[in-house]
Amino acid sequence: MADFTYALGADGVAVITWDVPNKSMNVMSLEGFALLDSFIDKALADEACKGVVITSGKKDFAGGMDLNVIAQMRAGGAQAIFDGVMQMHAVLRKIERAGMDPKTLKGGKPIATALPGTALGIGLELPLSTHRIFAADNPKAKIGLPEIMVGIFPGAGGTTRLVRKMGAMVAAPFLLEGKLSDPKKARAAGIIDEVAEDPLAAAKEWVLNAKDADLVKPWDAKGYKMPGGAPYHPAGFMTFVGASAMVHGKTMGVYPAAKALLSAVYEGALVPFDQALRIEARWFTSVLMNPSSTAMIRSLFINKEALEKGANRPKVADQTVKKVGILGAGMMGAGIAYVSAKVGIEVVLIDAAQEAADRGKAYSTGLMDKAISRKKATEEQKEALLAKITATTDYAALTGCDLIVEAVFEDPTVKAGVTAQAEAVIPADAVFATNTSTLPISMLAKASARPEQFIGIHFFSPVDKMLLVEIIKGAQTGDVAVAKALDFVRQIKKTPIVVNDARFFYANRCIIPYINEGIRMVAEGVSPTLIENAAKLVGMPLGPLQLVDETSIDLGVKIAKATRAAMGDAYPDGAVDEVVFWMAEQNRLGRKNKAGFYTYDEAGKRGDFWEGIAAKYPEAAEQPELAEVQHRLLMAQVLEAVRAFEQGVLEDIREGDVGAILGWGFAPWSGGPFSWLDILGAGRAAEICDDLTARFGTRFETPALIRDIAAKGDGFYARFGGGQAAKAA
Ligand code: NAD
Repeated sequence: MADFTYALGADGVAVITWDVPNKSMNVMSLEGFALLDSFIDKALADEACKGVVITSGKKDFAGGMDLNVIAQMRAGGAQAIFDGVMQMHAVLRKIERAGMDPKTLKGGKPIATALPGTALGIGLELPLSTHRIFAADNPKAKIGLPEIMVGIFPGAGGTTRLVRKMGAMVAAPFLLEGKLSDPKKARAAGIIDEVAEDPLAAAKEWVLNAKDADLVKPWDAKGYKMPGGAPYHPAGFMTFVGASAMVHGKTMGVYPAAKALLSAVYEGALVPFDQALRIEARWFTSVLMNPSSTAMIRSLFINKEALEKGANRPKVADQTVKKVGILGAGMMGAGIAYVSAKVGIEVVLIDAAQEAADRGKAYSTGLMDKAISRKKATEEQKEALLAKITATTDYAALTGCDLIVEAVFEDPTVKAGVTAQAEAVIPADAVFATNTSTLPISMLAKASARPEQFIGIHFFSPVDKMLLVEIIKGAQTGDVAVAKALDFVRQIKKTPIVVNDARFFYANRCIIPYINEGIRMVAEGVSPTLIENAAKLVGMPLGPLQLVDETSIDLGVKIAKATRAAMGDAYPDGAVDEVVFWMAEQNRLGRKNKAGFYTYDEAGKRGDFWEGIAAKYPEAAEQPELAEVQHRLLMAQVLEAVRAFEQGVLEDIREGDVGAILGWGFAPWSGGPFSWLDILGAGRAAEICDDLTARFGTRFETPALIRDIAAKGDGFYARFGGGQAAKAA
C-alpha cells in the first residue's frame, strides 16, 4: 500500500487518490511527495489522459506535512532544507503549468482537486497549485494554513500563491494568524473555488470541459497585478507598512516565523513568481534553522500530541469516564461540568444548596447561548448538553459515578466532609479527584477510605478556555487513578501533565516567583513600565503586575500568609509581602475591584499605572538594563521548573515545557523553560544565574543539574528528551 494511487478512468480523467496507510489523516512525507510527482509525470505523458483530479481516500483531504519529517530535514542543514523545498516547488510548479507551452500558455492538461473535508498546510498548498479547487459542503471541514501556530510558515508555495491570489491584506489573517475556515467561508474568501455536493464528480466534469485559458494562473498571465497593490503601489505601500507595524506590535519581535513570513511576502511581491518561490524557500530555510521553530514544533506539536496520546499513561485497562460527579458548583465546578457534558459524559453537579447547583448548571446554558448567537452551536446541541447535567444537593445521585471531581471551598475540613459523603455512595472502584490548587493531595487523601484511588486533577480558570490540566499523584495514588485522570482529560480534549505532590504542584510553583520578582523590582525602584515591557518583549503574554491584577492581590496575600505559616523562618518573600500587603491595605485588589497596580475605568478597561505606586516606591534614578530585568523574570520561573525536575516533582521535561506554555503562557517562542535553557546553553545560563545570585540573592542559585549539563556540554533535551526522569539519570 502506498500513500497515493493512480487510476485512469474510461472518461480519460486520471484520479490520484491520497490515502496514507494506517493513518486516520493524510500527512505528507518525502516519499509520498516523490510518488505524487511520478503520477503527475505519468498523467502528463499519457496521451489517453485528458486531465487529473487529486483527491483523498479518507473523510478529510490532509492534515499537513508530517512535522517529524521537518524535524528530520533539519538534521541535513540549511542547504539540504533549501534543496528539498525547491524540489517541492518544482513538483507543485509542474502541476500548475501542467505541460502547457510556456510562451503560448496553451496545451496543458487540467488538474483539479476534490477535497472531501479538512485540508491544512501542505494539504492546501498542493490544491493551491492546481487549477481549480472543489470542496464538499462539509461544515466540519477546516481549510487553512496553520503553520504559524507551531513557529513556521507555509513554505511549499502557499505563502506566495495565497498572496498573489488574494492580495497581502486579505491573505494576512490566513498566513499570520493561521485562520481556518469551513468550505463555504473559504470559498467566500477566495481560497478555494467551489463547494459541491460531490466534489469528485464536479472536479471531473470541470476537467473534461476546461479550456486552455482556465489553466493559466493570474500570475502567469500577461499584465498581472497583485490584488491590493504590490509594495510600491500607493495602496500596497500602506498595507505593507501597516502589516509590518502590526506584526511587530503583536509578536514583540520574538517570533522569527512571523518576521520571515512578512519578509517573504514583501520581497516576493517585488519579483516574478518563480523568483518569489526561491525567496520563500530561503526564508523558510532560515526559519527551520532557527532554534525557536525546532523548540516550538517539538513542544507545541510533537510532545503535546504525545502527552495527549498517553505517553506517560500507566499500562492499565481503558478508563473512559461514563458518569462524573462534581462536588461544588462554583466557578470551577460549573466549568468542569460544562466541558464534561460537552463531550457527552453524564454529569451530576452537587452543591450545598439547590440554588447554587442550579446556578452552576446555568453557566453551561450561558456558554451555549453565547455559542448559538455566534452560530457555533445549535439549539439541539444546547438541549443535549444540558440534558447531561443533573444539578442537585442529593449525594445519592452520585450512585454509579466512576469519577468524582471535587471543587468545593479551599478548606481541608470542608473537603474531608464531602469526600466521606461521596465515598459512602459511589462504587468501590470509582476514582476520587480533587481540584485543589494549594492543598497537598496526600494530606487530603487522609479523608479517603481508598487513598490509592485518590488523585489531584487541577484545572485552570476559565476551565472551558484553558488547555492544560495538571494531574497530581499523592503519595499513595495508584496507576488506575492516574490512567482514569488521563483518560478523562483526553475525553474533554485537553492536554495533561502528570506531576508529584509538592507545594503548588508545577504551574503555580513557577508562576508565583515570576509575579514576585516583578513586585520585588517595584520595591527596588525599577520602573513598572520597564518591568512590564521587559516581560512582553521576551514573549510573556502578561507582565507580572498585570498578571497579579488579574489573579487579585488578596489571593496573593492569602497565598503569602499560608506559605509563610508553612515555611516559618525559611520564608524568602518578605520584600514582596511588604508591597502586596500594603496594596491590600489600600484596597487595591486588582481588576476585580477596578484598582490594582493599574487603574481601571468604570467599564473595567485597564489604564495607566496607579500613581500611588510611584509615590510610595519612587523610581530609582538609575534603571537596570532591559536584559537584566528579562533575565530576572525568566530565571525566576525557569529555575523553579528545573528544581521541580531535580526533585522529581516533574518527571518529564516534555511535560515541563508543554505545561508551561499551555498553563501560564511561558514565552511560547522558546518552546518552554527547558527548551529555553537549551537555546541559551547551560554554560551561559549558569553565568547569568551566578551573576544574579551575587547581586540579588540565593533564589537565583544555579541548580546542580544546570552545572552538570554545562560541564558535560550536552543539553536538557539531549539528556532527557525521551521522557527520562532527572532522579533516575
Ligand atoms: P467557588 O467558591 O466559586 O465554588 C465553591 C463551591 O463549592 C460553592 O458553590 C460552594 O457553595 C460549594 N460548596 C462549599 N461547600 C460545599 C459542600 N459541603 N457541599 C457541596 N458544595 C459545597 O470556588 P472555586 O473558585 O470554584 O474553587 C473551587 C476549588 O477549585 C478550590 O479548591 C480552589 O482552590 C480550586 N481551584 C480554583 C481555581 C480558580 O482559579 N478559582 C483554579 C484551580 C483550582
